[in-house]
Amino acid sequence: MNTDIFARRLLAWYRRYGRTDLPWKRTRDPYSIWISEIMLQQTQVNTVIPYFERFMTRFPHVRALARAKLDEVLQHWSGLGYYARARNLHQAARLIVAQHGGRFPRDLDAVRALPGIGASTAAAILAFAFARRQVILDGNVKRVLARYHAIAGWPGTRAVEQRLWALADRHTPRRQVRAYTQAIMDLGATVCRRRPDCERCPVRVGCRAFAERNVLAYPQPAPRRARPVRSTVMLIIRDRRGRVLLQRRPPTGLWGGLWGLPECRIDADIGDWCRQELGLGVVREATWPVLRHGFSHFRLDITPISVRLVGTAGRVMEDRGTVWYNPQTPDARGLAAPIKHLLQELWKST
Ligand code: SF4
Repeated sequence: MNTDIFARRLLAWYRRYGRTDLPWKRTRDPYSIWISEIMLQQTQVNTVIPYFERFMTRFPHVRALARAKLDEVLQHWSGLGYYARARNLHQAARLIVAQHGGRFPRDLDAVRALPGIGASTAAAILAFAFARRQVILDGNVKRVLARYHAIAGWPGTRAVEQRLWALADRHTPRRQVRAYTQAIMDLGATVCRRRPDCERCPVRVGCRAFAERNVLAYPQPAPRRARPVRSTVMLIIRDRRGRVLLQRRPPTGLWGGLWGLPECRIDADIGDWCRQELGLGVVREATWPVLRHGFSHFRLDITPISVRLVGTAGRVMEDRGTVWYNPQTPDARGLAAPIKHLLQELWKST
């Protein structure tokens, strides 16, 4: 298969303008590439860089990640969001050690069988680490190809996605697959962005959306659905030493496995709830301003209520999933971003 004109132009552009300075570009180590690819899902490059560097310093190889406690992994992820990614990385590292002797698999099906790795990510890891000809189709590539070929319809539908996979396959060259894979990702991230800079684009000649003067029509956006708003109360329960009660959240679901504040229903009687659920006597102090946190499918309105412990600390024990936490001396514990924010506010106010 000859390298087509699209790929040739892209490769020539990449040789001049490609982003080769990123920390994960200096390696062929599949482990490092895997970590970077997972972090880059849903997250901007500039945000990822310091997280990636801290993560690699603490977990420099797959065995270090497999040996680590989930709590510490989540702590290194804290602030990046989409915590299922961190839980899956940890679980996948353990599987790589148990099933592949600690060596990252080289077979596409074996990579895809690991938790949290989809078809495009598996292909990208194999292309970057082992220069295998693999076809990728992440969000950036979808946008480029939908515009270049003026593909109508939302890429979330099966029919449109299959068309895009076929086009991605057609353009992927047999040689220089590493450079090509990075080039098309970079084009989507830096030139063919949501608002594209077509004047700088190496494949402008040949782009159908550009020829139609209609680049913003592609790809068609997802049908709009209003994000519902959910509400919850988070209790900031403090003991006499100023420590705050944290609870470990269930392993799956919202902020799964992270530590958070006890949550109760908005209409609950807080004194009764704390006695029944936590075995603690408390006195209500103040209601803080509502904190709104956005998720992809809904928004969460958090009403923080501070309460003071009266009597003894009761049955609070780490192995039961509750702990007294000192906000002034934070430890290696994974906290969700809004919890961190609330604890910082608390620390400032004391
Ligand atoms: Fe995207 Fe514009 Fe290039 Fe077409 S010409 S691929 S719309 S940047």
